[in-house]
Amino acid sequence: MSLLDHLTTRILQDGPISVAAYMTECLLHPTLGYYTTRDPLGPQGDFTTSPEISQMFGEVIGLCLAQSWMDQGQPSRFILGELGPGRGTLMADILHATRRVPGFHQAAKVVLLEVSPELKKKQAETLREYAPEWVGNIAEFPDLPLYLVANEFFDALPIRQFLRDGDSWRERLVGVSAGSLTFGLGPRTEQSGLKHRMDDTTDADLVELCSAATPILTTVAQKIATCGGSALIVDYGDWRSLGDTLQAMQNHKHSDPLENPGQADLTSHVDFEALAGAARAAGCAYTRLTPQGVFLERLGITARAQTLANSLEGSELEGLIAAHRRLTHPEEMGNLFKVLGLYPAQSAPPPGLDS
Ligand code: SAH
Repeated sequence: MSLLDHLTTRILQDGPISVAAYMTECLLHPTLGYYTTRDPLGPQGDFTTSPEISQMFGEVIGLCLAQSWMDQGQPSRFILGELGPGRGTLMADILHATRRVPGFHQAAKVVLLEVSPELKKKQAETLREYAPEWVGNIAEFPDLPLYLVANEFFDALPIRQFLRDGDSWRERLVGVSAGSLTFGLGPRTEQSGLKHRMDDTTDADLVELCSAATPILTTVAQKIATCGGSALIVDYGDWRSLGDTLQAMQNHKHSDPLENPGQADLTSHVDFEALAGAARAAGCAYTRLTPQGVFLERLGITARAQTLANSLEGSELEGLIAAHRRLTHPEEMGNLFKVLGLYPAQSAPPPGLDS
C-alpha cells in the first residue's frame, strides 16, 4: 500500500485530518514515512543543509560551544547533544574542531535524538570513534550540563495551520476530493493558543502553531537553567511567522505538499518567538535572534575560509568560496536562517550572540 492510499482510506473513514497529522504521517509513518525510510540529504537526496555544504559550519559551531563550556568553568562532565543530527556531519565537525580544546572531549558524552533508523545508522558510522548514545525522547537526556545544537530540526516538526475568521479561527485540514488530497477548512473555533495573534492579524490571515516544539524546547531549557550549558538553535524562520510556510522539497525543487506524500521533505518556518517563550517559562535566558551570516562572521568563518583556501586551488578553491558565500550571504542562507541561543541567566550568552 502506498502512503497516498493509506491516507485516502484514513480520511474517507475518519474525516479530514489536520496539517500536523498529515505531516506526521508523511514524515514519520513507520514503514512509508519520508524520514523513516531514507537518507534525504546531499546531492543525491532532496535537500542540502549547512553542515553538508561545508565543514566550516560545524567547526565554527564547535568552537562556539567549547568557548561557552569554558565560560561556564569547564564542567568536568557534560552532554554534547544534538537534535536531528542527519548524517552526523555537524557533530563530527564539532568534535574535530574541538579536539585540541584541553579537557573538552574527556568531559563530553555525545547524546543524539534521532527518529530515523536510516539516519541513526549513518550517524553510528560517522561518529563511531566517539561512541555516541541515542535517546528515544528528549526527557532521557541525562541531568548534566547540556551543550546542544539543533540545525534544521525544528522546521521538521508538524505544524497546525489556522485561518482567521472574524474573532475565531478555522483550521486548515487535509481532505479527499475526487480521489485526490485537497486542503479545506474546519469549523470556526476559539483557539486559546492564538490569543496573541489577534493583534497582528486580520481576516483571512493564516497562522501556524507548532505544539510539538514546546515540550522539546522546554526540556532543553530546563536542563540548561538547572544544570548549565547552552543551546544553539539554527533554522529558517523569523521571530513570528505569518502566512502559509508549509513547503515540500523533492530532488532539490519545491513541490506541492499534497503531491507524493512520503516522497518529499515537508517543513515549515520556525516561529522563534514561541521557542523563546518556552525558554522564558522554563527560567532559561535566550539571546537575540541573529541571522546565520552575522553569527558565522562574528565567530570567524571568513578567517577559517582563508586558512582553508591557502591549501586549495582550481575547482576546490572555487567550491570553498561558493560554500562560504552560500552559508553567509544575505541573499543565500545568511539571512533566511537565524540562530537563537539558550543559556543560564547567570552566565554569558554563547559567543557570537547577544543577550
Ligand atoms: N541537522 C542535520 C539534519 C537536518 S534534517 C543537518 O543539518 O544536516 C532533520 C533531521 O531531524 C533528520 O535527522 C531527521 O531524521 C530528524 N527528525 C525529524 N523529525 C524528528 C523527530 N520528531 N524526532 C527526532 N528527530 C527528527
